[in-house]
Amino acid sequence: QIKRTGRNGVRRFDAALDAELERTVLLSREFQSALAREQLRLVYQPIYHLDTGEMSKVETLLRWTHPEHGDISPGTFIPIAESSGQIVPVGRWVLEQACMQARSWREHYGWAGTITVNVSPIQFAQPRFVEEVRQALLLSGLPAHKLELELTENAVIQSPALVQAALCSLQRMGVQITIDDFGTGYSSLAYLRDLPIGCIKIDRSFIEDLAAPRRAPQYAVALITAIVSIARTLDLQVVAEGIETQAQLEAVRGFGCDFAQGYHFARPLEAAVLTELLDHGQPSVQPHWQKRLN
Ligand code: C2E
Ligand code: MG
Ligand code: MG
Ligand code: MG
Repeated sequence: QIKRTGRNGVRRFDAALDAELERTVLLSREFQSALAREQLRLVYQPIYHLDTGEMSKVETLLRWTHPEHGDISPGTFIPIAESSGQIVPVGRWVLEQACMQARSWREHYGWAGTITVNVSPIQFAQPRFVEEVRQALLLSGLPAHKLELELTENAVIQSPALVQAALCSLQRMGVQITIDDFGTGYSSLAYLRDLPIGCIKIDRSFIEDLAAPRRAPQYAVALITAIVSIARTLDLQVVAEGIETQAQLEAVRGFGCDFAQGYHFARPLEAAVLTELLDHGQPSVQPHWQKRLN
């Protein structure tokens, strides 16, 4: 009897795995045509300068609305798009759209900020990547120094020579490089010194820990303080991502972070909503940091 239960258990487990795999394969196939079917769009999340309150940067985030399942999270579809290689053409599209959008905000509303674009390690490893960036800038007319690429630690520690060459070409062009989710990869810190990196984004998990009600946040405080200190030494800008509360905001200001991003200020916004904000004048948050954008 035990044996039978065991076997059924295994079978159930297999069935669950099969269903999961089937769903992934199906999603992967559906993602192939998502761009052509206009199911992909970009949303934009403001990043504020902590001294001036200005919307100095805006992060571009990809969205997929599936015809049956509705919005699918990037946490689900980005890995799928990476496995299939679709992230390469889709990433190129994201880059072009984001540059055009930023150029339009710049031209029509005098927005002087920087647009940031997430780049997958798969996309970054393509030999054509640097050319594609150049092309996106050329097509859009966006000045190179108004484009910032967000790469993860894992993307920049692979094949050091190639990475170094690509990053140096981008730097010569004037494009800025940011390390996203800083502190979560398995890497040494030497790359920060050796590569032309201008900014790091402290991962949201550290910011989350600041607000953990039970656990003492001392170690989060220690880690963030250490990260900011490294950044100061290497002359890097620091963004705190995932700010959800006034207390987190005050904490990261106290630690000396330069910029902050998170639901406390604004969720990722539809392009039209951000355009409206720019149209109504000041997209900056108030100096007293009370005002929320949505
Ligand atoms: P990321 O680049 O670290 O982006 C920040 C994520 O945190 C976004 O999730 C954003 O919506 C979310 N977020 C921002 N503020 C808060 C907050 O206060 N609280 C919480 N809980 N979350 C906040 P999203 O849009 O779901 O994207 C997830 C990840 O998917 C991104 O993480 C990025 O790694 C990837 N991704 C998104 N768009 C693209 C893209 O165009 N290309 C590539 N390669 N990856 C992308
Ligand atoms: Mg990012
Ligand atoms: Mg991030
Ligand atoms: Mg993150």
